[in-house]
Amino acid sequence: MKREELILACTSDIAGKVRGKSFPAVQLEKRLNRGIGWTPTNVQITCFDNIAETPFGSFGDLVLIPDASATMRLPDEDAPDEVLMLGDIRYTDGKPWEFCTRAILRDALARLKRVSALTLNGTFEHEFQIRHEEVQPGSAFSSSGFRQWRAFGETLIAAMRANGIAPDTFLREFGPGQFEVTMDPSRDMAIADQAVILRELVHGVAARFDKGATFVPIRGPDAVGNGVHVHISLIDADGNPATHDADGKHELSLHAGQFVAGILKYLDAFTALTAPSVVSYLRLTPHRWSAAFNNLGFRDREASVRICPVSDISDLARARQFHFEFRAADAAASPYLVLAALVHAGAQGIEEGLSVPDATQQDLSLLSPQDLAASGHTRLPQSLEQALKVFAANETVAGWFPEGFTDLYVKHKQGEMAMVADLEPIEQCRRYEEVY
Ligand code: GLU
Ligand code: MG
Repeated sequence: MKREELILACTSDIAGKVRGKSFPAVQLEKRLNRGIGWTPTNVQITCFDNIAETPFGSFGDLVLIPDASATMRLPDEDAPDEVLMLGDIRYTDGKPWEFCTRAILRDALARLKRVSALTLNGTFEHEFQIRHEEVQPGSAFSSSGFRQWRAFGETLIAAMRANGIAPDTFLREFGPGQFEVTMDPSRDMAIADQAVILRELVHGVAARFDKGATFVPIRGPDAVGNGVHVHISLIDADGNPATHDADGKHELSLHAGQFVAGILKYLDAFTALTAPSVVSYLRLTPHRWSAAFNNLGFRDREASVRICPVSDISDLARARQFHFEFRAADAAASPYLVLAALVHAGAQGIEEGLSVPDATQQDLSLLSPQDLAASGHTRLPQSLEQALKVFAANETVAGWFPEGFTDLYVKHKQGEMAMVADLEPIEQCRRYEEVY
C-alpha cells in the first residue's frame, strides 16, 4: 500500500517523554508558522499515561510549533522516513508557554548570558540497554560484544551523523546488554535537542533490528544503572574556551569554579529534576559509579561533578578539552530540564561568587554522619519523595523556574509515584523499563 510521510511535531515533556501530534509532511510550511494544537493539561500526563492533578483542567489552548533545526530523520526501507521535529509550546498569540521545557532552558541560558556572557558547550553521554536479550557472558567491552552488535552500532553512528550529531564513541558497556554512546559537544539549546534526538535514534534503530532499547535508570535493585553524564565547558564572549585556568583551584577558571560550586551547593534541592523517577534513587547509591553525595572529584567516577581527564598537552588544546561532567542525572528526565537546572545552579554560583570546594579523594560513604557533615558534604536525597520535599522547600531553586512550576512538578510526580507505590522495587523497575 502507498504511504505518505508524516512528521511528528513534539516536545520532550516534564515526564521526560517525547510527545506530540503528527501532520502530513506536505503541510510543513504551514505548520512551521502555525504549529499544531496542544492542551495545557498534557503537561500532567505522567510517564505511565495517567493524568496527575492539574491546575488547568479542560481549559486553555496552546500551539506546539515545530523547529526545523531540531529534526530527527531516520530512513526506512521502502517507506517514508521516520521524522520527528522538536518544538516550542506557545500560547495561541505566539507568547512562549512558561511550562514548555525548551522555554525553561531558554530562560536559564539567557540568565547565564546576563550574569557572565558565557555560552554553554556540552554533550550528554548516555547509557542504555537492549531488553529481552539473552546475555552473552564475557561480552562487556569485548571484541565478541563488538562483533555481535557491530551492525546495530554502525547503523546508529550513521544515523547520528546524518542527523548532524557528530558521533564520538559507541561501546558495549559493562552491564547485560548495556551500551554507551557519546557525541561531540554542541552549544546551548542544541545540547539538549541532540540528547533528545539521540534517544529517539537509539529507539528507532533498535526497532529496525527488532529489538527494544531502554534508558531506564536501573533495571532492578541489584542491577547496573544506566547513567546520563552531562559534560560541560564554558565559552567566553570572544568564542574562546573559558573553563581552564592553570592557576585556578583544581585548574578551574573563576567562572567555571563558581558554576561548579553552584551545582554542588544546590544539588540536593534539584535532584528531583535530574533523577526524577522512583527508581532513579536505586541508582544514586554508593558504589554504583553514579553519584550519592554533592562532591567534586577528579578521578572519581562516583563524584556528582567530576573534572574529566585531559590527554592533549599543549596549552591551547588543554584549555579546549578541559571540562567537567555531572553524573547525577538519568534519562527519565527531559534533557531540557536537566540542563536548565544545571545552568541556573551555575549562574547562581557565579552571582553568589561561591568558592570552589575541595575535590574529595576518599569514599564518602565510609564516613560517619558527623565526619560527613564536617567534610561539608551531604548525602543526596534517597527517594523521589524526599527529593521532592527538598526541592519544594528551597525558595532559591523555586525562583529559577516560572511561577507555579514547583507545584506543578510536585503534583506531576505525585501522580506518577501513585502508579507504582504498591509495587516491589523490581516490579517498579520493570514498569519504568517499559516507558523509557
Ligand atoms: N553505569 C554508571 C551510571 O549509572 C556509569 C558507568 C560509567 O562511568 O560509565 O552512571
Ligand atoms: Mg558508561
